[in-house]
Amino acid sequence: MLQVKNISFKYQKNPVLQDISFSVESGEHVSIIGESGSGKSTLLKLLYGELDANKGHIFWKDIEILGPKHNLVVGYDFMKYVAQEFDLMPFITVAENIGKHLSNFYPEEKQARIKELLEIVELTPFANTKVKLLSGGQKQRVALARALANEPEILLLDEPFSHIDNFKKQSLRQSLFNYLKANNITCIVASHDKEDVLPYSDRMIVLNNHKIEANNTPEHLYKNPETPLIASFFGEFNVINKKIIYAHQLHVVEKSDLEVIVKQCYFKGHYYLIEADLDGENVFFRHSETFTTNTIVCLSIVK
Ligand code: ADP
Ligand code: MG
Repeated sequence: MLQVKNISFKYQKNPVLQDISFSVESGEHVSIIGESGSGKSTLLKLLYGELDANKGHIFWKDIEILGPKHNLVVGYDFMKYVAQEFDLMPFITVAENIGKHLSNFYPEEKQARIKELLEIVELTPFANTKVKLLSGGQKQRVALARALANEPEILLLDEPFSHIDNFKKQSLRQSLFNYLKANNITCIVASHDKEDVLPYSDRMIVLNNHKIEANNTPEHLYKNPETPLIASFFGEFNVINKKIIYAHQLHVVEKSDLEVIVKQCYFKGHYYLIEADLDGENVFFRHSETFTTNTIVCLSIVK
């Protein structure tokens, strides 16, 4: 449905994306991940038609997405984009912002839709609050609701939960992504947070060095991390004998050839992350208890 064919893009002389190709099915959720500066936001802007690609083509169904050079008004009705810097109207209320692009022709339907959207982003108590009085996270939720208002076919989200606190994040993610799936809305999310991606994305596209380093399901990439960059997205890991071993795959045993010396213990909630020395290299493993510094511990690798 969305087809990205050999896209290249540079800002002035600074190449950001080179020969990027992928496709996204209707209703599919795809995340774009990569380090800060890897081009996630730039890619979303190209998909939205906010930037002109130097090379390549983008199609949604049989419509070619064109940038500002070829298209006077940026954007398309079937697509909505929530940028990292969301622009809301500060002096009108939350409900008015959300309903901004809804038709006034059927006022009752409009009010019902605003009510439904307020529930999805959990802002019902703030319906009549002026947007300028909201926190960053609340504003981000208004921007999400406004983007959903007219049921786009495809939604582009740039770090959609970056301003939202951990208390709210979990339930908001569930309610948003379940709503999108239930309504068959295709969604492309740029993120650097695995919690946004693992439970909700059908596929993950990893950007690195201007290219796509991987494009597969989160499960596949988690189980077969081919590069340290991919592994680092999922959590603490080690490279032992050229193999990527997650910290949780190293278990403490009575005796083994893998002897390490404990350096530091970090409390992580339901486990401790232990930093230790293995022949001059740092290794990380998890354990249910702490160790005193310089304890010698034997580890075994559990797949
Ligand atoms: P990400 O979203 O992955 O952090 P961006 O797409 O924002 O990455 O940026 C990719 C690269 O392009 C970075 O090196 C960034 O500094 C550069 N860049 C982003 N926006 C502009 C711009 N408007 N002009 C020039 N360079 C830019
Ligand atoms: Mg960005």
